[in-house]
Amino acid sequence: MQWNEKYEAVIGLEVHAQLATESKLFCGDSTAFGAAPNTHISPITMGHPGTLPKTNRKAVEYAIRLGLACGCEIEKDNYFARKNYFYPDLPKGYQISQHTTPICKGGYVWIRSNGSERKVKLNRIHMEEDAGKSIHDIDEVNTCIDLNRAGTPLVEIVTEPDLHSAEEAWQYVTEIRKLVRWIGICDGNMEEGSLRCDANVSIRPKGSTTLGTKVEVKNLNSIRNVKKAIEYEIERMVQLVEAGGKVQQQTRSFDAANDTTFAIRDKEEANDYRYFPDPDLAPFHLTDTFIERIKAALPALPDERMRQYQQAYGLNAYDAGQLCDEKETADYFEALIAHTENYKAAANWILGPIRQYLNENMVGFATLGLSPVQLAALIKLVEESKVSFSVASARILPVLIGSGKDPLQVAEELNLLQVSDTGELEVWVNDALASMPDKVAEYRKGKKGLIGLFVGEVKKRSKGKADPKRVTQLLEQKLNQ
Ligand code: ADP
Ligand code: MG
Repeated sequence: MQWNEKYEAVIGLEVHAQLATESKLFCGDSTAFGAAPNTHISPITMGHPGTLPKTNRKAVEYAIRLGLACGCEIEKDNYFARKNYFYPDLPKGYQISQHTTPICKGGYVWIRSNGSERKVKLNRIHMEEDAGKSIHDIDEVNTCIDLNRAGTPLVEIVTEPDLHSAEEAWQYVTEIRKLVRWIGICDGNMEEGSLRCDANVSIRPKGSTTLGTKVEVKNLNSIRNVKKAIEYEIERMVQLVEAGGKVQQQTRSFDAANDTTFAIRDKEEANDYRYFPDPDLAPFHLTDTFIERIKAALPALPDERMRQYQQAYGLNAYDAGQLCDEKETADYFEALIAHTENYKAAANWILGPIRQYLNENMVGFATLGLSPVQLAALIKLVEESKVSFSVASARILPVLIGSGKDPLQVAEELNLLQVSDTGELEVWVNDALASMPDKVAEYRKGKKGLIGLFVGEVKKRSKGKADPKRVTQLLEQKLNQ
């Protein structure tokens, strides 16, 4: 029996995203990744007595940007609280976080698979500061502490228990990564820890509406691990319950070496964090004008653009989705279609030869060296049958990129313009037919498939320059005479 005939999995995700501000949440220390350990740690980061934190306005702006992009309600009256606990990588002995009043409430994120899409409900998005890092693999006996990360601004994006499979969780995190990059608030780099995910998982009998006991799997640092951890947990819970056992509320950790999870603490050991409003930080009020200004500056979002590309430009869902995978790609597409109405060709070029070039040369659109005007002109050359698509993409494009030239000029210089002039074509066509009298006879007896052979022969004689469409027409005329 498949487990999902009898049980339903319920999943809620908490994603921590590091905000891409230059400085920390409460002081001017740099947030740059990869600096020498413990070099970005002023007395404020360290929480020395007498220091005063000050809220980073940019971080607040980024959190609101994300909230607006997810359709959240923005809380206007905010304060930060201290969440007290002891841990070696927490220099102050407390983490500054939002407690009962998250800056963004409710909202949703679209996920999609196999052509269907749905909204995943969010519970909240709140702001908090990151902790430092304990490093266990540098020294054999000691744990090393790097506090550079302490105080880096984070948003925690918390869903409702609204996901129902590992696959959906995968899609959700993929969408979140795309969204935070799109609106420029986080680099989405999971390897560097800019995005980290905790997965809350429970199961319940199918049809039940009450929530089962959950476990929380902490610190999943890749989308793959999110999926693997949830798959493992569902399987483990189903087996446990089938064998007559009960799920214990636990915090667990993922073991990437064998795709399993293991318990790190039970509910009884839950911390009492003794939250209270941070007395050193002024509560802050957001005005409508401030929020409106952020809203007005928000770029058109991927979901919106995907729908537009399908409805207004007739692209299929797959192409539209691919174009909206990254903002740079969608922006380039839009710049391109300002110069051509051949939307399908524009999409094909970007998702085909251009993407291949970018990947092979490890560059982005900003440093591609091909303007949308040039690419639109190349599309036109193909449209007008002056060159074939394969010649345009394989021979003209590589020369065109970085040259600043007009594609027509490049085609002329490389002597690649197709000949569609009837007089010139006829010479090749006649020669080709004259060289294969037997085949011509066979064709005339009904072996129409031979047309390809004749076209190929003309292509050879013209060194690839004969316009195949015109050649086919001419050949048919002559053969059917
Ligand atoms: P906690 O206080 O343990 O952090 P929260 O109520 O804040 O729990 O929820 C944390 C996350 O766990 C949220 O994403 C929420 O949707 C999810 N969650 C809560 N209960 C369950 C459950 N029974 N099964 C799965 N996910 C759950
Ligand atoms: Mg939690």
